[in-house]
Amino acid sequence: MSRAAIAIHGGAGAIARAALSAEQEQHYLQALRDIVASGQTILAAGGSALDAVTEAVRLLEACPLFNAGKGSVFTHAGTHELDACIMDGITQDAGAVAGVSHIRHPILAARAVLEKSPHVLMIGAGAEQFAMDHGLEPVAADYFSTEARWQQLQRAQAIQQTLLDHDGAAQENAPLDNDRKLGTVGAVAIDSAGHLAAATSTGGMTNKQVGRVGDSPLPGAGCFSNGRVAVSCTGTGETFIRTQAAYDVAALMEYGGLTLPQAADRVIFEKIPALGGSGGLIAIDADGNIALPFNTEGMYRGYGWLGASPVVNIYRGS
Ligand code: ASP
Repeated sequence: MSRAAIAIHGGAGAIARAALSAEQEQHYLQALRDIVASGQTILAAGGSALDAVTEAVRLLEACPLFNAGKGSVFTHAGTHELDACIMDGITQDAGAVAGVSHIRHPILAARAVLEKSPHVLMIGAGAEQFAMDHGLEPVAADYFSTEARWQQLQRAQAIQQTLLDHDGAAQENAPLDNDRKLGTVGAVAIDSAGHLAAATSTGGMTNKQVGRVGDSPLPGAGCFSNGRVAVSCTGTGETFIRTQAAYDVAALMEYGGLTLPQAADRVIFEKIPALGGSGGLIAIDADGNIALPFNTEGMYRGYGWLGASPVVNIYRGS
């Protein structure tokens, strides 16, 4: 079997307190399976890891089940501010956008920053103008809105909390409680040439202050790739920034001599909880090993090596 592989996540969080709908659960699992398969198809055709993670995250953004792109959470002001990052392990080039509201696919804007600008991170109106100048599709801000996310904001404001996409009252029929789910999406891949890449995209946190930026668009915090490992995180963004979580996995491997699973577990089960955070990550190393640890009750996740069927899961131990 080839070591070429892709792994994806659609956020981590709590199990719904409402009765689960088996049908809805299948809906999520099928979406994950289809998106892993799309990534495998790109890799099988000789596509790059960078292309595979771009397309996987673009598909996750397009799917309203996940808190990125369409289906993003609302800010305190009832608006959307989206963040995304992509990183190429070969060159350690990165591109990212933060606080964008009018680009259909923030991950494509991040990729444009990576490839077509001398910069790493662009924000707000300037990032949007840059994306449009490079032919990306603009949308009205309400394109990202869904009724479920609006109700989530109402619940968050009723209890006056800034909620991760996984805190609060249950969202009927979602396998993970939508109010207690960290709904960022991400992908990591290794291609047939052994090159790695990582991508992360998010709507952020429900009821967040306008202008708040989490870990997702920050290389080293919510997204990182070098020649040894690619990492994409989901969780309490402030903690992932303070711990430099994605880079910490790489550093523990490079300087500490840890294996990928050891490094990923150290970050998710020790370093993040030590600062009061929660969440998970997906990572893949240069040998094609995959780790998907999370310290919440579940994490939407899937992976597949070339030539193998996609494996998808939501809950712990499944
Ligand atoms: N990490 C994201 C943020 O803080 C939230 C998430 O993973 O759902 O913006």
